[in-house]
Amino acid sequence: MIRRYHCSVMYSDEYSKRILKILGDEGIHYDDIMGNAFVFYVYSDNPLTAEILKQLETEPSVEVLFSKSELENANWYILEATRFDIETSDDDFTFEYSCPYRTPYDTRYRHQKQINPYVSKRTPKWKNNYNFCAMLGDFNRVFCSDRAKNMIFTRDIVGVDYMHVVNRRGESTENVSQMVFNNILPMNCFNFIGEYSAHQCESCGIIHYEFKHPGDDNIRIRADLIPKGIDVFVAERSFSRGWIQPPIIISKKFYDLLANEMKEKHLRYFPIG
Ligand SMILES: [Zn+2]
Repeated sequence: MIRRYHCSVMYSDEYSKRILKILGDEGIHYDDIMGNAFVFYVYSDNPLTAEILKQLETEPSVEVLFSKSELENANWYILEATRFDIETSDDDFTFEYSCPYRTPYDTRYRHQKQINPYVSKRTPKWKNNYNFCAMLGDFNRVFCSDRAKNMIFTRDIVGVDYMHVVNRRGESTENVSQMVFNNILPMNCFNFIGEYSAHQCESCGIIHYEFKHPGDDNIRIRADLIPKGIDVFVAERSFSRGWIQPPIIISKKFYDLLANEMKEKHLRYFPIG
């Protein structure tokens, strides 16, 4: 496992010249942001990375990258769909909102619950290695093609249901379904290894968890506590602020179908146990 840090430095920062020199000496590419700042990636397997990180005034965002063998050796994974290809066009039809709060400008809602299908203008342009996508802004709301549905059915993956997607006239859209996971994995099945905070909603008392470094290797699963015979769960609580849904947890059997058999390009997996 290596960590990739996405760093951003203002030219006015005290250490910017020194960092630019290190980047130049090492041949590390950076992008200029309108003459005010520059951004670059560094990796934890580079010995100079620690020195660069030490000097940054703004904490970089981090992402863990797993090798193929680290992925293959795991038994449970968090699943995310990475390509945003469904844009819902009638939120008031799809969702019911709760726990309102006032901002200086308007009233907003802390939670939304899906009560109707998504309304989408079109079907994604599926391909051989593209059968899954996400809704704009949330990796945990997953949609799939009929081909994917068929594969999941014939491989006896347990725990996936579907809801149709409709067009603006309320008719089912062809060849795209929302994936629905009805098995909830309670919070005692998770151990957090990354630093996190818990936030409780003032109105309804629901708690969500937020990691200090969201892309890092933050979670382990208590495999001994997971109900047997089920391949897909969603976590009981959200691990992010805002509208983001709780994470999806899948078995090795489901991972094998998606990653090795279907070779899907627009999903990613975080091994958690
Ligand atoms: Zn609430």
